Amino acid sequence: DVRLRFAPSPTGYLHVGGARTALFNWLLSRREKGTFILRIEDTDVARSTQESVDAILQGMEWLGLDWDEGPFYQSERFPVYKEFVEKLVAEGKAYRCYCTPEELEAKRELAMKEGRKPKYDGTCRNGVEEPGDKPYVIRFKAPHEGVTVFDDLIKGRIAFNNDELDDLIIQRSDGTPTYNFVVVIDDATMGITTVIRGDDHINNTPRQILLYEALGYPVPRFAHVPMILGADKTRLSKRHGATSVMAYRDMGFLPEAMVNYLVRLGWSHGDQEIFSREELIEKFSIEAVGKSAGVFNPDKLLWLNHHYIKESAPERLAELLVPFMKERGIDPESGPNLPLVVKTLQERSRTLVEMADGAIFYYQGDFAYDEQAAAKHLVPDAAPLLKALADKLEALADCSQTGIEALFKEFIAEKGIKLGQVGPAVRVSLCGGTASPGIYEVIEALGKEEALRRLRRAVA
Ligand code: GLU
Repeated sequence: DVRLRFAPSPTGYLHVGGARTALFNWLLSRREKGTFILRIEDTDVARSTQESVDAILQGMEWLGLDWDEGPFYQSERFPVYKEFVEKLVAEGKAYRCYCTPEELEAKRELAMKEGRKPKYDGTCRNGVEEPGDKPYVIRFKAPHEGVTVFDDLIKGRIAFNNDELDDLIIQRSDGTPTYNFVVVIDDATMGITTVIRGDDHINNTPRQILLYEALGYPVPRFAHVPMILGADKTRLSKRHGATSVMAYRDMGFLPEAMVNYLVRLGWSHGDQEIFSREELIEKFSIEAVGKSAGVFNPDKLLWLNHHYIKESAPERLAELLVPFMKERGIDPESGPNLPLVVKTLQERSRTLVEMADGAIFYYQGDFAYDEQAAAKHLVPDAAPLLKALADKLEALADCSQTGIEALFKEFIAEKGIKLGQVGPAVRVSLCGGTASPGIYEVIEALGKEEALRRLRRAVA
């Protein structure tokens, strides 16, 4: 039974990099029919906020990454950590260190000056006389010989010389446990079998492995995911645009586009680009994640979003579009049927923001005409045609797109004109400008009454 976890630190929003890590864990757990655990790493009380926890949960929910156990909060598990610290001390695998920060700093400076790698010198490692109630930290008694090796599922074999590793502090002088220690206690006691996380944690891994060994727990497998870069090949940051997953929702991206985009940022399956969620669960494998960093490409995300917008049911898009319309001061209940409107805009909208902007004219019928378009198309010659067309439309029984199209065909045949001689004027009358969905679709979506009103307003 595979057990995976996503372990964000709640010190900000859900970053696209974090979301991708969560997604990889989730996909593998679903593929292997295992367990996905959410663990909030909030031991840094000063930097952790409830707001950030909420933002992370909201981001996961938006992406559809549901968890089977948790969320667990590290801040609620201090007694567990304490127990394990005491166990290691009792077994002689950890010790009290009374060296003061000033002493350590002086030794560190000396090492730097002499060109040595600064490292705890082991003053307290083999026991010291108990110096009364002097404050102390607890250090892990790490082996100084040998190598620690692991076979990373993405990066391959990685080895560290143990003599380069310090005697890690596992409990601070205020009694709180340190990060590397609690991660191991949690992963061990939660039975995590595979740790998938960002490769910024690679240097922590050998220290953590030594702790597993000291505690007598099996060492999980590790997969360190390369980071995400911006177009200039530096680490993705705000300089490159939005990095918060929820910012993408607000920019009008669909969660399935985001999921499809994130998974491909580092993972591939032949040259396939579009994956349904079911396909991802079936095809995802951690071994197929690339070793090198993925470059965030906003154009590709837009392309995928456009694809999913075109594929989605208008009813669902309409639901997602409502907040974007309200943001623009429009209550979609007050005008044409929103799913019908959506249908006319899917082909031409890459985001819900573009769709909402494109939908405004449906709900604000008393728009000012685009000046150039009006000068060109709402000319005196067009007026009698628009009037005659309105009268004909008024008598139309079948106001579906096909009915409307048939009416136009009949109309231009009767008048002996081409569609190009009346179409643009109709378009400007109905939409205010020349860029719009097809006029048959627009009339269908507007409904006969409103279409008539607009045609007649244009020639009044
Ligand atoms: N809390 C860590 C982070 O947000 C993740 C630690 C881990 O996955 O082991 O970077």
